[in-house]
Amino acid sequence: MATRSVVVKIGTTSVTDESGGVAYGILVNVALDVADLLEQGWSVVVVTSGAITAGWFEVGRGRPRPTDGATLQAVSAVGQPLLMHAWRNAFAEVGLDVGQVLLAPLDFSHRGQYLHARGTLEALATLGVVAVVNENDAVADEEIRFGDNDRLAALVANLVAASHLVLLTDTDGLLTADPRLDPTATLIEEVPAFDADLDDVAGQSRSGVGSGGMASKLAAARMATWSGITTVIAPARAHNPLRQALSGSPGVGTTFRPRPERLSARKSWIAFAVASHGRMRINQGAMQALEHHGRSLLRVGIESIEGTFIEGDAVDIIGPDGQIVAKGLTRVGHESFFEGDDVVVHRDDLVLLRGT
Ligand code: GLU
Repeated sequence: MATRSVVVKIGTTSVTDESGGVAYGILVNVALDVADLLEQGWSVVVVTSGAITAGWFEVGRGRPRPTDGATLQAVSAVGQPLLMHAWRNAFAEVGLDVGQVLLAPLDFSHRGQYLHARGTLEALATLGVVAVVNENDAVADEEIRFGDNDRLAALVANLVAASHLVLLTDTDGLLTADPRLDPTATLIEEVPAFDADLDDVAGQSRSGVGSGGMASKLAAARMATWSGITTVIAPARAHNPLRQALSGSPGVGTTFRPRPERLSARKSWIAFAVASHGRMRINQGAMQALEHHGRSLLRVGIESIEGTFIEGDAVDIIGPDGQIVAKGLTRVGHESFFEGDDVVVHRDDLVLLRGT
């Protein structure tokens, strides 16, 4: 990827209008910005939401939106091509072609598949084609869905080693309080580092049609900043939404600064992309060895295990205080736990997560 590369995610409430149809004007604004950034040498990947809402606008005929998973997945199959049609037309206005890439969580869990997806996104960029990504809603099992495109966008940003992640949404950015409950809420322009208070600010805000809300945006920002990616939450309804978000101008969106020590792509993959299959509770001594001396996790430091995992699976490593300390790939499956290698999680396969 180019040195300056951005993954821009546009949420459902911005991609679609009040009626549920595609908000074409916003797509064109984004396309104009993308064209401009490409000319300046940026690399850009678009992550779009809105398939389910656009699909229900088409086939729902004004009925209330369904709530069951199977129907929503079927509806996404209607909306996804409508969405792509709109993106194709919007990008055609600026002379660019688009390619659709639909991803499922398993594409991030299997390292081979992960690298393959990266290859496809890079090849599209080389062709000068704008990748438009969404979750593969129609087929992903309800249990293993990403659930929201904020997380997907952070994973894609990590996948392509983007320098920036921009989450375009229907608010001005991260506010000090929920503006619907507190009219004095103001914009937080910059977040130099995460702390626990941020989660209180986010609350559990959810809009009617999107599935993200501010909590999932913060989770995405946390993931991305740990991967060394500057993250901006900014309004989609601005005139040049993406360029403005990247401009760093005062009053535009909330910028989250990346952590100075960037995790390697492989460690970010372990930390954020792979689902955990179990938990290992460790003792104080092991915690010290991991956190202060960068050691591997040895069997002697493990108090108990939970879950069903085999060699190579990711596990959460839990400290004596019950908090997650690290995540790593185990060298020993749960069935042969007391027979295998003394090194259970090698330090090369381990990511410390305190402070996340
Ligand atoms: N993938 C879903 C869709 O396109 C959106 C998920 C979200 O709202 O974040 O409808």
